[in-house]
Amino acid sequence: MRLLKDNIKIVHFSLLISCLNFLFFHFPFFKFIFNNVDYKSFNGITIIICFIILMLVANAFAFFLMLFLLRFVGKTILILFFIVNAIAVYFINTYGVIINAEMMGNVVNTNYAEASGFFSIKLLLYIILLGVIPGIIIIKAKIVNVTFKRFSAITLASLLFMLAVVFANSKNWLWVDKNSPVLGGLAMPWSYTVNLSLFFVHKHQENEKEILLPDATIKDNRKSVVVLVIGESARSENFSLYGYSKNTNPFLSKTPGVFHFNATSCATYTTAGVKCILEHKNTGELYEILPNYLYRNGVEVVWRTTNWGEPPVHIKNYLNKEALMKDCKGDGCYYDEVLLNNLKEQIAASTKNKVLIILHTSTSHGPEYSKKYPPQFETFKPVCNSVELAKCSNTELVNAYDNTIGYTDYILYNVIEDLKQLKEYKSAMIFVSDHGESLGEKNLYMHGLPLSLAPKQQYNIPFIVWTSDNSLKQLKTENSLSQDYVFHSVLNFLSIQSPVYNEELNIFK
Ligand SMILES: [Zn+2]
Repeated sequence: MRLLKDNIKIVHFSLLISCLNFLFFHFPFFKFIFNNVDYKSFNGITIIICFIILMLVANAFAFFLMLFLLRFVGKTILILFFIVNAIAVYFINTYGVIINAEMMGNVVNTNYAEASGFFSIKLLLYIILLGVIPGIIIIKAKIVNVTFKRFSAITLASLLFMLAVVFANSKNWLWVDKNSPVLGGLAMPWSYTVNLSLFFVHKHQENEKEILLPDATIKDNRKSVVVLVIGESARSENFSLYGYSKNTNPFLSKTPGVFHFNATSCATYTTAGVKCILEHKNTGELYEILPNYLYRNGVEVVWRTTNWGEPPVHIKNYLNKEALMKDCKGDGCYYDEVLLNNLKEQIAASTKNKVLIILHTSTSHGPEYSKKYPPQFETFKPVCNSVELAKCSNTELVNAYDNTIGYTDYILYNVIEDLKQLKEYKSAMIFVSDHGESLGEKNLYMHGLPLSLAPKQQYNIPFIVWTSDNSLKQLKTENSLSQDYVFHSVLNFLSIQSPVYNEELNIFK
C-alpha cells in the first residue's frame, strides 16, 4: 500500500481515519437516524447530511488534536479506539444495546465468567477486521506534522465551521435533544469514553458516604422472618401468574397464599434496580439500605447472592456463590438453587427474633438463558444455545427464557416450603425483579435502555408475595407497585418502628 510507504500530511491522515471510523462504526448510528426522521422530506435530508458532515469533521478534528498534541501517544489511543469501537459495535449490532453510562457501569461490574459468556467467533472477526487491521495502518503511517501557527489556524477554522453547521440547524435541536441519549450511545468512540467517565463521576458522587437513617425500634418479640428474593431480568409478562399462555408457574400457581401485584422497576439495569428495591425512597443519594439499616438496629440479616451490583452491604453474614457452594451437594449447586442451601437451618439457628434473608438471584440473566437452569428444567423446547442471536429463532430464545422463569418458580416454591417448616416463625416471601428484559420485541434484546425509551418489557416486573397462615397478614389491593414498597413492607411485617416508615408504601393490611 502506497499509504504505508509514503509520508502523509497530518490533516489528510486525520480525515482518512475519520472516514474509516465513519464507515466501520456508524451503521447503527445512521440506521437510527433513518428510522427516526422522514428522510423523504427536505428537513430529513438536511439532518442526515449535516450529521454526516459534522461527524466527519468533528472526529477528524479530535483525531488531529490528539495526533498533534500527543504524537505517539495519540497514535496509540487511536488504535485502542478502533479495537474498542469494533467490540462496541459488535454488541450494538448483536444485542441492540446502547452504550450509555449505565451500560459502562455494567461493563465495569461484569466479572470474567459473565464476560466470557459473550465471546464468539463473530466478535473475533469484528476485532480483527475493524480493529486490528486499521490499527496496523495507523502504526505504519508516516505522518508529517504542521507548525504551531498552522495548527492554530486549522483549529480555529474547524471550530468555526462546526459552529456554523450547528447553528444553521437550530430548528433541529429539539429533535437532537430528544434523541441525544441514543445518538450519544451510538457515536464512536465517544459513547464509551464519555460514558465511562460519567459512570465514574456518578459512582464517586453516590458512594462517597452512606447517609444513615434515624434509629429504628423493634416493637415486639414475635419470631418473624422475611425472605426477600431479588430477581434478575425477570419480566412479568412471561409469568403465567400474570396471564402468560405458557405454564411457567406450575408450582406457585398451586400454592395457597401466593399473591401477585403489577409492578414497575425504577430503572432497566441491575445496579439501579437493586438500589431501588433496598432503599426507603428513590433518590440519587445513597441512603442506608434495608439490610444495613436492619442489621444496625438489631435484626438478623443474611445476604446470599449469585449476582452482583448491589450497593455496599455492611453486615456479618454476606455469602457469595463461592461460600454457598462450599457445603452444597448435588447438581442444583451449580445453579441458583445454591441460594437455598442450608437456608432453613440458618434461619432456625438465629438467636434473634427478627430475621431478614435476602436472596439475590441471577436466574434469568442473558444472553445465555439456557445455561441458567438444570437440564431437567428444560420444559419448553427447542431452546437457543448460541450467544449470537441471529442463529436462533425467536421461539427458541423465548423458550430458553421461559425455562428460567419456570426454574424461578421452582426456587420460590422451595423458599415457601422451607418457611412453612419453620412453624414457630411467622413468615413472608417477597419476590421482586430488578428490571425486565427484551426478547426481540422491536428488535431489542436484553435490557439497559434509558427508562424513557425502554419498552414495557424492560420495566414491567413481577412482585409476588406469600405469607404464612400464622402471620394473619392480609394484603392491600394496590393497582401498581413500585420497588419502593419493599422497604416499608418489610419493616411492617417485622414490626419495626422507624421515623422513615411510610404506611402508603406498605402492602400489608
Ligand atoms: Zn439485572
